[in-house]
Amino acid sequence: MKYRSTRGGLSPALFTEILIEGLAPDGGLVVPEEVPAVTAEELEAWRDLDYAGLAAEVIGRYASGIPAEELARICRAAYDPAVFGGDPIVPLTALGEVTLVGLSEGPTLAFKDMAMQFLGQLLEHELTARGTTLNILGATSGDTGSAAEYALRGKHGVAVFMLSPQGRMSAFQRAQMYSLTDDNIHNIAVEGDFDDCQHLVKVIAGDTAFKREHRLGAVNSINFARIAAQLVYYFWAWLRHSDAVAPEHRAAHRVSITVPSGNFGNIFSGWLARRMGLPIHRLVLATNENNVLDEFFRTGVYRPRTGESTFATSSPSMDISRASNLERFVFEVVGRDPEALRERWSGLERDGVLDLSAEQPRFAEEFGIVSGSSTHADRVATIREIHRSTGAVVDPHTADGLAVAARHLEPGIPMLVLETAKPQKFPEIVAEAIGEPAELPEALQALLEAPQHVVEVANDAVAVRNLIARDAAH
Ligand SMILES: *Cc1c(COP(=O)(O)O)cnc(C)c1O
Repeated sequence: MKYRSTRGGLSPALFTEILIEGLAPDGGLVVPEEVPAVTAEELEAWRDLDYAGLAAEVIGRYASGIPAEELARICRAAYDPAVFGGDPIVPLTALGEVTLVGLSEGPTLAFKDMAMQFLGQLLEHELTARGTTLNILGATSGDTGSAAEYALRGKHGVAVFMLSPQGRMSAFQRAQMYSLTDDNIHNIAVEGDFDDCQHLVKVIAGDTAFKREHRLGAVNSINFARIAAQLVYYFWAWLRHSDAVAPEHRAAHRVSITVPSGNFGNIFSGWLARRMGLPIHRLVLATNENNVLDEFFRTGVYRPRTGESTFATSSPSMDISRASNLERFVFEVVGRDPEALRERWSGLERDGVLDLSAEQPRFAEEFGIVSGSSTHADRVATIREIHRSTGAVVDPHTADGLAVAARHLEPGIPMLVLETAKPQKFPEIVAEAIGEPAELPEALQALLEAPQHVVEVANDAVAVRNLIARDAAH
């Protein structure tokens, strides 16, 4: 399997060569040259595998440059029951009319652990094999930064420099990141907001001499290794859901899956799984009030917002102004033609709008994607109703998914909803809905009380660069 750029300007590369960036040198996104197919017989042969075994098979279709036994070892280390609170790594739970797919059993209680734990093991393997080091520079408003830190803590040859906005993260998010004591984890609280943090990363990583000298890299949501790792739970969810179906009917067993969405990373993995041959009927894309993707899938018109016109909502990990993975989907819509993609994208950059309304009917018919959006009132009502009818407590992002899924139920087609975080991370909205926050296990209570390690800096690229130069892995 080779990789190229959506915009055509990358000579075919191996999986092991695209781990660090995701962005191709021509500004496009890295995509596999073809989508591997999985037959119904192959799917059945995977039924008895545990999660780590399935991961090695699914990711193995993409992981060129890594020997199969090495990949199996990496998957075993990543999807360890000790890291994911026991077996199964991804539990399925019936919840009224739908089935919840539990992607939040990892150390930071959100689905980003699913891919990041794999990437952490993979990076350590690759860096050791190449005898080199890497310094990850990122900005976070919460989930991504903590998932990266928990995946890379204590790993050889890699250090993490994570910028976060001073005073703008929740108590839980701060405790989760700042309580880490590993020498290779550097939390940097910037005097500014999340956009300021992102801007600093852009400025520092844009200095190519500094970037090369300190071997800076990123593990953000456009990283294709993360997309590949996210494929696994779509296969897992279908396999576990169809366990109850009589063997002769399994090949015809179709499900729909609702995905709480922001940067279009998670649901792009779902689409790729469907394209590989997994029997998914509909992928339902759920947004919150930041509904640029819902608008795109309903009308075919993509109109990214500015940072200022992006709402701060009670499902904050879905508060995006532009969906950084959407270019991969548009690449498919224009028939994998880099020239057509470039033309569309320069139009978007010029006019601020991408109009694919002529293609919009294909989004559901051919690609299987439909969409909807949800509001704060929907989240509160959903958390309350699920609690009343089942006793379960869900987080606000999963509630967005449940609210939108309810409008897309079809007779005879089971609906699965991806649980993207645990409710303990979002005590305010849970208390608003059910009168009290979700119960905190003892370990999490202790986390909130642990000493915190964070360096505070001004919103100043030179100050941040000095910290990196001082503490970088060499
Ligand atoms: C990141 C995140 C999302 C959005 O996922 P994308 O891959 O960006 O679409 C949804 N819910 C939670 C809890 C997240 O952390």
